Amino acid sequence: MRGDKKKGPLKKGFDPSQLEEGSIVSVNGEDEDIYIAEVLEFESKGGPQVKLRWFYKPEDVVYGRQVWHGSKELFKQTQVSDWNSVHSVTGFCKVHTLEEYQDLDLVEEDDYFCRQAYKPNSGEFVPDIVPVFCVCETPYNPDRPMVECEDCSDWFHWSCVGVRSKDTRRRGYTYTCTSCLMKKASPDTSEI
Ligand SMILES: [Zn+2]
Ligand SMILES: [Zn+2]
Repeated sequence: MRGDKKKGPLKKGFDPSQLEEGSIVSVNGEDEDIYIAEVLEFESKGGPQVKLRWFYKPEDVVYGRQVWHGSKELFKQTQVSDWNSVHSVTGFCKVHTLEEYQDLDLVEEDDYFCRQAYKPNSGEFVPDIVPVFCVCETPYNPDRPMVECEDCSDWFHWSCVGVRSKDTRRRGYTYTCTSCLMKKASPDTSEI
């Protein structure tokens, strides 16, 4: 580590000798940003080196960050990897599936999620379509609070349907979406 100007804030208890093939790690970029990668292999040429396969951030994919991307969202990819000093690695991370991530009681700094793989060379996503929700018909963003309609069980963003956080804290609070309310109001009319 001596003479290494770009030292990242090492996570408490992190020891680079614990790295192994397949480790998911955070890396301090030259722009001071944190990047996430998988360790592929080791070498020692002029210092210990790790070959890293990068996870892409929404900013790195073809259409950039969109409103439905989570702040901790990453894209798996297999086309871009390179050699880096082992000293650029600052700690271990976890990349969960979206389902696992949703189930976390507490999202820690080193928790991320991935729901799609990305092919940097062609700009393709796998799967290329993800489920959409709400009146705005966008993919799920775990950072944006949602409410479930008790009738149709569809999910809606608080901000899209005018639900306030204090409403949802009311004891016995339930939400019914506009189209279910309309159906209830005129049960004889067939769907519009
Ligand atoms: Zn919405
Ligand atoms: Zn509904």
